[in-house]
Amino acid sequence: MYIVKRFEDRVVAVTGGAKGIGRACCLRFADEGAKVAVLDLAMEDAVHTATECEKLSGQPALALRCDVADAASVDAAFKAVVDAWPEGLDVVVASAGIYSGQPLVEVPLEAWQKVIDVDLTGVFLTNKAAAVIMTTQHCGAATAGTAGRAIINISSMAGKTSWAASAQYSAAKSGVIGLTRSVAMELAPYGITVNAVCPGNTSTEMVQGVAATIAARDGLTSAEWLRLRAQDCPMKRLADSEEIAGVVAFLASRDAGYITGQAIEVDGGMVMS
Ligand code: NAD
Repeated sequence: MYIVKRFEDRVVAVTGGAKGIGRACCLRFADEGAKVAVLDLAMEDAVHTATECEKLSGQPALALRCDVADAASVDAAFKAVVDAWPEGLDVVVASAGIYSGQPLVEVPLEAWQKVIDVDLTGVFLTNKAAAVIMTTQHCGAATAGTAGRAIINISSMAGKTSWAASAQYSAAKSGVIGLTRSVAMELAPYGITVNAVCPGNTSTEMVQGVAATIAARDGLTSAEWLRLRAQDCPMKRLADSEEIAGVVAFLASRDAGYITGQAIEVDGGMVMS
């Protein structure tokens, strides 16, 4: 339970909010007083997250079906957020994502396209829908003290560096960083900050899936592969999703009002090393 309520009565929409890092973001914003919309394909988990948000915030929360790779679905979900809370959309987090990876010569075009559709086009569509709403709801240039409207895109350390057999994921996550910088330039005059967060290996369902895929290829168990990844990291452990959510919440706060267009590694020093 957080005593500081930086997001009291703020409206926050999180794609991929049903699980993992997105879910941790939803709970963190709710715990700090926000009205949270959980946008996801996994509706059972989305409803569960929204229910927990309501308990934490004492405010209403929404669970909305949204496929981030589908423009009509994204627009409909954001319209539902505005219909529910016409007072204004303050923070958008684009966390929905998937992983696949194979050696380059084995990557089926469909696997490449699917990751690009969800991890890159999904962030573009989310930013576009958010910008349409946020730039028309609150106009005017940023001044000190008026910050606190923000878009945060979840990239990855894979957007900052690359490994073999990760072409589609690295390409998408690097693309998110470029997209973030461009959108940051466009939305700065509206007082909206736009940043990317680049997590290292974080304990979620996704990292378990990544471990299973790569470990099988390398003749390891998932647990062995995850132990090796922890050893590779200067901090000698994986991140908790709450540690990523804490940085996302900081970037949405007034304290980060003069930070925009950045891609911040939250990776225990992995990329640095
Ligand atoms: P996760 O699998 O635990 O959660 C991802 C969520 O996205 C799920 O709720 C899923 O249903 C949703 N989702 C997937 N496809 C969707 C779609 N088309 N439309 C809407 N929702 C969709 O994964 P996570 O680890 O929480 O990952 C969240 C983000 O963080 C992703 O963008 C991922 O690439 C990134 N990331 C994760 C790690 C890690 O180690 N876990 C590291 C770096 C970056």
